[in-house]
Amino acid sequence: MKILVLNSGSSSLKYQLIDAETEEVVAKGLAECVGVAQRQGRIIQETKRDGKVVFDAEMDCHDEAMTRVFALLTDPSKGVVQRVEEIVAIGHRVVHGGEKFVQPTLITDEVLAGVEKMSQLAPLHNPPNLDGIRACLRLMPGIPQVAVFDTAFHATIPDYAYMYALPYDYYTAFGVRRYGFHGTSHQYVTGIALEMLAKDGIEREASRIVTTHLGNGCSMAAVKGGRVVDTSMGLTPVEGLVMGTRSGDLDPAILVYLARRLEASVSDIDRIINKESGLQGLSGLSSDMRDVEEAAAKGHARSELALAVFCYRIRKYVGAYAAAMGGLDAIVFTAGIGENSPVVRERVCRGLGFLGVELDAKKNETERGHAVNLATPASRVRVLLIPTNEERMIARETMRVIAGLSAPAPRVTEP
Ligand code: AMP
Repeated sequence: MKILVLNSGSSSLKYQLIDAETEEVVAKGLAECVGVAQRQGRIIQETKRDGKVVFDAEMDCHDEAMTRVFALLTDPSKGVVQRVEEIVAIGHRVVHGGEKFVQPTLITDEVLAGVEKMSQLAPLHNPPNLDGIRACLRLMPGIPQVAVFDTAFHATIPDYAYMYALPYDYYTAFGVRRYGFHGTSHQYVTGIALEMLAKDGIEREASRIVTTHLGNGCSMAAVKGGRVVDTSMGLTPVEGLVMGTRSGDLDPAILVYLARRLEASVSDIDRIINKESGLQGLSGLSSDMRDVEEAAAKGHARSELALAVFCYRIRKYVGAYAAAMGGLDAIVFTAGIGENSPVVRERVCRGLGFLGVELDAKKNETERGHAVNLATPASRVRVLLIPTNEERMIARETMRVIAGLSAPAPRVTEP
């Protein structure tokens, strides 16, 4: 029994085939340059038997990419699956579920139409997700497919935390509110953090956890009693922390000011805050934290500034979320930067002694690749390094839906 997990992005298609019982990754791969005329498309697939193999492949669209991936996975000579029936379900990452989809949901025509409607809220993300789903429905019509939404874990946020102080009608008419993203990652690391806290006698209902997903995109969540009560990304993934190329929090009037000064169009502003800001914009050097850290260590002033702004923003949110939850038991660091950067973790935790955070400097430098507490024994707050695994979480949620344990019926409140 295997679950195929798909993450279909604007010009790529990532996949993992996961054994439903052992959670072992049987095969994983990436189809890149999908629909990019100027560059040679290719599929990089990794299996235990063959290691990493690169296949050149022209792929005009996601349907073509999925056709190639399907052929690779089911080619008997590659030894991944012998029969298509071994794949019992397909789990799709879908970025925006809006208020309608707050649970992983079995895909039907009605659900597809609902996800399509959500494309208004996520015009860059939901359409390629849908393309991947449609391709799978055509190629594997008999296999149940489940949409796992990036927004769903945040559905428990109360109204006073998700509402923006804009005219109320924009919420009812256009769905303008905080939704939050990276939910699958926050959910996965929360599960492990709760297990670690339980060993110290802190039960789920009493727990107060701040999860920080620091990758190319960055977000945080305040998780009280196992449920999200606030998160840093908003209507879109631009709000909140400083990211690789996204600005995070801004005075909204800056955009009006810049539009006037630059005589910029809406799409210019969109590009500036999504592609030209964050670490890239501040450092002027790179959107990659490794480059920024290296340059800062060599005295590059703007990289040092980028690093300082990045870490200060996270520290500020830790304080805000501790206040939102009435205390703090654990800070979780995950994703590329959170899992691998002792510098960022140290800078975030520095000055949080008043909250009871005491990082163990040695552990912070040396631990990597597994779930571990980086705080000193005396620290009141645990500092948890937890490697994320969104694909595993999607596979679990997909199994949960097809096992009938969760009610797949969507809530019927329209944004
Ligand atoms: P992700 O989106 O989770 O793949 O994370 C990508 C980010 O993680 C990039 O900014 C990388 O520079 C950063 N990253 C990966 N490894 C390290 C490392 N050893 N030190 C600092 N940042 C890292």
